[in-house]
Amino acid sequence: MNQQSQRFLNNLASIHTHSRYCDGHGEIYEYVEAAIAAGLSAFGASGHAPLPFPCEYAMPLTSVDAYCADVRLLAAHYADRLPVLLGLELDYLPGLSEFYEREFLLRHFDYYVASVHYVGELGTEPWAYDESDMAFRREVKRRHGGDARPVVENYFQRVLQMVDELKSWPVPIVIGHLDRIALWNRNDCYFPTNDDWYLGIVDEVLTAISRTPLIIELNTSGWSKPAEVSNPGLAILTRCAAKQIPTIVSADAHRPANVAANYRRAVQLLKQAGYREIVVPGKGAWSTRPLLGE
Ligand SMILES: [Zn+2]
Ligand SMILES: [Zn+2]
Repeated sequence: MNQQSQRFLNNLASIHTHSRYCDGHGEIYEYVEAAIAAGLSAFGASGHAPLPFPCEYAMPLTSVDAYCADVRLLAAHYADRLPVLLGLELDYLPGLSEFYEREFLLRHFDYYVASVHYVGELGTEPWAYDESDMAFRREVKRRHGGDARPVVENYFQRVLQMVDELKSWPVPIVIGHLDRIALWNRNDCYFPTNDDWYLGIVDEVLTAISRTPLIIELNTSGWSKPAEVSNPGLAILTRCAAKQIPTIVSADAHRPANVAANYRRAVQLLKQAGYREIVVPGKGAWSTRPLLGE
């Protein structure tokens, strides 16, 4: 790695990653090695947290101890080369706070990525909106006669609830892929992202976040998905910057080779949105440093 790229990446970390413990590929040490090779400032493992019902992509509850031990061992091994943090990607669903607190908060993870993957009205079966375009289309048609707006509103209401529930947790929390509900919305084919109702609900969510210590991520994995946009995209990111919501770049990598995927593009987008600083993770409190790069 030459000096320029070292300088380019030296305030960027990769703390949203999935290994073979959940639906990712590869061992966690392979991610750590890839993060060092990419010149990153820190690495964090954030396997999909178990859910109290069967879920294909999540880590089984029985694997959590081995996962924690693996990451802690790597943190000690790489201590003089790179901070290695123990995290989880929490899957937010209303009514699970006791489960989260009992199973995760008390185990002292270094941080959490908190995401909404399931939507659906309370009292009905939750459904994962990110499975496939076809499944999304089918559910929107079946539940709402083809109108995606109630699904989008339900998603952001859930994010609002999540922000409210997690804001007082005593560890850094990163909100995962904030506008991921637009995953299949290529060219606004399901809902118009410049309509007042959409911008209104987004603004309500951002205002709520800005009153908490929560961090948002610029998740670069969406650039490799059908809609070919980052999460969030430029319009929302610009609003986040205006509200001074702290941000971090993350890859949501499911393979070690993707640990810093699209990071150059991410820095350019953050600057375009008006960001001048970025959150740098570490042990204990996370700090804010200048956003370096071209
Ligand atoms: Zn996620
Ligand atoms: Zn993820």
